Amino acid sequence: MNLNLDKKVAMAADAATKKLKERHDLIDSIVEYNQQKVLKAFIDNKISESHFNETTGYGYSDRGREGLDDVFASALGAEAALVRHTFSCGTHTLAVALFGILRPHDTMLCVTGLPYDTIQPVIGLTSGGMGSLKDFLINYKQVDLDENGKPDLNAIKNALTDDVRMVYIQRSRGYTMRPSLSVEEIGEIAKIVHENSKAVIMVDNCYGEFVQTAEPLQFGADIIAGSLIKNPGGGIAKNGGYIAGKKDLIELCAYRLTTPGLGTEVGATLGHTREMMLGFFNAPHVVGEALKSAVFTSALFENLGYEVTPTPIEDRFDIIQSIKLEKPESLIAFCQGMQKGAPVDSFVEPQPWDMPGYESQVIMSAGAFTMGSSIELSADAPLREPFTVWMQGGLNFHSAKVGILLAAQEIAERGLLK
Ligand SMILES: *Cc1c(COP(=O)(O)O)cnc(C)c1O
Repeated sequence: MNLNLDKKVAMAADAATKKLKERHDLIDSIVEYNQQKVLKAFIDNKISESHFNETTGYGYSDRGREGLDDVFASALGAEAALVRHTFSCGTHTLAVALFGILRPHDTMLCVTGLPYDTIQPVIGLTSGGMGSLKDFLINYKQVDLDENGKPDLNAIKNALTDDVRMVYIQRSRGYTMRPSLSVEEIGEIAKIVHENSKAVIMVDNCYGEFVQTAEPLQFGADIIAGSLIKNPGGGIAKNGGYIAGKKDLIELCAYRLTTPGLGTEVGATLGHTREMMLGFFNAPHVVGEALKSAVFTSALFENLGYEVTPTPIEDRFDIIQSIKLEKPESLIAFCQGMQKGAPVDSFVEPQPWDMPGYESQVIMSAGAFTMGSSIELSADAPLREPFTVWMQGGLNFHSAKVGILLAAQEIAERGLLK
């Protein structure tokens, strides 16, 4: 592929590649550790070809379903897990866990500021009447992050009243400027919560799986949940989600997902098990590729004079990279350029649109094999201050690099480089 790169972009890319060696080695060591952990989970649970068999109807005694739950549980440090293609998305998965555990007059205490956009209607923050937690008399309280974007441990301790049944933590920065949380920081919150209350600690683990060598359950969280079209699906699972953690809590979630009495006993897998297993098996490696892609983007755009978070040498606790491109035209150029390097829909020119739930227009780049998959190279940019694009994913570094270079190239060709 002759990229015919602009001279400034080519030089910045060369310098970025040189700067990356050490970071890429560090990522490789995390991948190696996590890959062995996942391989061990397959071996320990004696996964065999018979687990891939399709079940239909009720799906009674589906070995594959049970084996997949066990593999996730082993690898994520959980007592039990619930992994289903019938979770429509991450939001659905998180909502099943919230409704499964919380009861009327309980309080959910979110300690990482306002949760991710799509969780707000689940809680009942944005509107009532839809069957939100609020409609079921479940209260919500929040502790904001401090001025550095870090958990406010004192305020968290003070907020732990007896009605708090759940402390909710969002690991990833999502599409905000705050830093993402490390498992060690989650551990600090967990220590205070467990010492001062009986609350369950739930972590929205989206975008965080396999970024570090441990998961939040190993640092005191009781339950975690995430989406299979992000990290743990490895770019292969076609949809779905997982919940993992304490056995009694997983059971409650299973009763909410199916019905009281049935729990995990039903749920035909319709032939999806092999892909979900294969995706999870590949996930540590794919997360490594996404991390390498994010670090490259960070270094490239820093070299071109832009403000990037995280910086290339900062430790990372999720796969998201943001770049402050400063101008709306540059956001459009970035997304349209990145799209040109996508394996699917490369010929499509993304345009800003009025996305439901957003106050400004948003432009996205997504040329993925799985609709909406953000473990594949993708980018989102709301056309408002601070004119920042958030990018994530990359099934393999070498193809993601092309998309990232073409994003920079488009900005250069339109005369918008700093
Ligand atoms: C992706 C994500 C979710 C769930 O979003 P879906 O689009 O429903 O999968 C929740 N929280 C965070 C932090 C996320 O990144």
